[in-house]
Amino acid sequence: MTPQQQNALWAEFEFDTLAVRAGIARTNEGEHSEALFLTSSFVFDSATQAAARFGGTESGNIYSRFTNPTVRTFEQRLAALEGAERAVATSSGMAAILATCLAFLSAGDHVVCSQAVFGTTNVLFEKYFKKFGVSTTFVALTDLSQWQAAIQPNTKLFFLETPSNPICEVADIQAIADIAHQHGILLAVDNCFCTPALQKPLAFGADIIIHSATKYLDGQGRALGGAVVGSHKLMEEVYGVVRTCGPSMSAFNAWVFLKGLETLRLRMEAHSASALALATWLVQQPQVEQVNYSGLPTHPQHALATRQQRAFGGVLSFVVKGEREGAWRFIDGTQIMSITANLGDAKTTITHPASTTHGRLSPEAKAAARISEGLIRIAVGLEDINDLKADCMRGFANM
Ligand SMILES: *Cc1c(COP(=O)(O)O)cnc(C)c1O
Repeated sequence: MTPQQQNALWAEFEFDTLAVRAGIARTNEGEHSEALFLTSSFVFDSATQAAARFGGTESGNIYSRFTNPTVRTFEQRLAALEGAERAVATSSGMAAILATCLAFLSAGDHVVCSQAVFGTTNVLFEKYFKKFGVSTTFVALTDLSQWQAAIQPNTKLFFLETPSNPICEVADIQAIADIAHQHGILLAVDNCFCTPALQKPLAFGADIIIHSATKYLDGQGRALGGAVVGSHKLMEEVYGVVRTCGPSMSAFNAWVFLKGLETLRLRMEAHSASALALATWLVQQPQVEQVNYSGLPTHPQHALATRQQRAFGGVLSFVVKGEREGAWRFIDGTQIMSITANLGDAKTTITHPASTTHGRLSPEAKAAARISEGLIRIAVGLEDINDLKADCMRGFANM
């Protein structure tokens, strides 16, 4: 079956069916669970076949930096879930962003990026791409006039994350895509926080989707990985970068992520329900100054989030009284939640962004991204909601 025929077949199935079935390629053994191909290279029937594979006249596996059957199964399943033609797997989420930029940017090009992106994404643009002559303008995620005004003749890429980390702002993907496309600019959306279970950016005009599979696609905090998702035409460029530069996904990690995808929607709905319950409860606590969660009716983009997403995701943040001291005392008072920067795990995690994930930002950049000293991020896991509230009570008692 050609990739086009395969996509046509999967277009007929619902999300939950694709999550457990898309991409399966059986081996001669007839295994039921997806096979894990731990092999770095592949053998050929003959010298003629080897030459044909290398020459590109015959498709097939050569070497696992290029293709691997387990990784391909993951790519096909994720593409099907995003409603996309193709996905290219990478060794991490950062590698997915790196591969995208290497594929579509050259020295002298310009990027417009939302201010409130994952901390390392900010460093990648600010420090490393600058070295190669790619400049970046950071704009407020939700202010369309800033996106418009930042465009230069050499602007090639818009990059955004929605909902944003850690303050949960929501971008109007369709409106930003329209601005980008009027100027021949590509729009890349980091869909790590919602995953395709809650949000499908291509349906709102995005050209490229970025994933850190490390987060919810795995869902249990086991492996590092990422992916770039989009049209065959764009993904062929990204694939060229990955097979040449080498940030390929390991077959073992792809196998872990395939198992994660099977339960993705169930987990995202459970994370979302608990996060909404916790956010609603936190609003009522006297030590809390502000709660950021797009599921709250008081959130400035609540209506947009309701339109664009099936639910509001597992990540929320809130500002406690007492600045850094108050936030650290809250965190140190909790007993169940894991003090770690990771998210998208069955285990609830708690983070102080200003001193960890966003600690490298300048004071001005922190202020622009609204990363205040009293801000705490919680990525709500799958524990019982009442036990999580009780853990927060221990945090408040320690302030
Ligand atoms: C974690 C994360 C990344 C980077 O992914 P890695 O797998 O850690 O490299 C990118 N974007 C967002 C929104 C993230 O949360």
